[in-house]
Amino acid sequence: MIIIMLGAQGTGKGTVAGLLSDSLGIPQISTGDIFRKNISEKTPLGIEADKFISKGNLVPDDITVPMVEDRLNWDDAKNGVILDGFPRTIEQAEKLDKMLSNIGKKVDMVINLVTPKEEIIDRMLTRRVCTNQDCKATYNVKLHPPKVEGICDKCGANLKQRADDSDPEAIKKRLEIYEEKTSPLVNYYQEKGVLRTEEISLSINRMGADVAKDIIEDLKK
Ligand code: AMP
Repeated sequence: MIIIMLGAQGTGKGTVAGLLSDSLGIPQISTGDIFRKNISEKTPLGIEADKFISKGNLVPDDITVPMVEDRLNWDDAKNGVILDGFPRTIEQAEKLDKMLSNIGKKVDMVINLVTPKEEIIDRMLTRRVCTNQDCKATYNVKLHPPKVEGICDKCGANLKQRADDSDPEAIKKRLEIYEEKTSPLVNYYQEKGVLRTEEISLSINRMGADVAKDIIEDLKK
């Protein structure tokens, strides 16, 4: 099963994707995580990608698309994947359709997460991520704090704020890019009949875990 997580930064895509991945036994593939791992290891791909990421810009397709294509061919992806952060443009969605049809697959479900803008910005500023690149657990100091401040519950490594989450200019840029380049994907997938929109907001007391639970229940039916 091929699932895509759609939604602006800070809506909880990573949280929902992680819960679905654990429950369905298929990997979560986050392009942002792959880039951050390469940046921390100072690989050529990481050094190149950081030039765009640190400013809040998208990494060009000639770097991003082959990276995803390669990852989709790993053995653990044969029963399906949850794509988190890809595609981010109509061009990437079209390239993904081609890649999948080459291996006899298609997009089965697109989960579109919607959260009010004020909550999104607050969540990005209060998000913390595990520094252990093999763990990558995500926390929020207000909504989902670790048991011990600054320490990952899962692996004990230090937590930190993502560089692009601490810069208000980069946050603004990322949200603008989402509106302009990524939000047209909502219609793209709506027309294909695979879109499922879910609101995540404190105002309706519905968080990522609630959404993941409902989706898992529905998939069992
Ligand atoms: P994320 O963790 O999904 O917020 O991604 C962090 C950053 O990585 C983004 O702001 C982009 O600079 C870059 N990035 C992640 N996924 C993509 C993608 N599909 N296409 C281009 N750039 C991406």
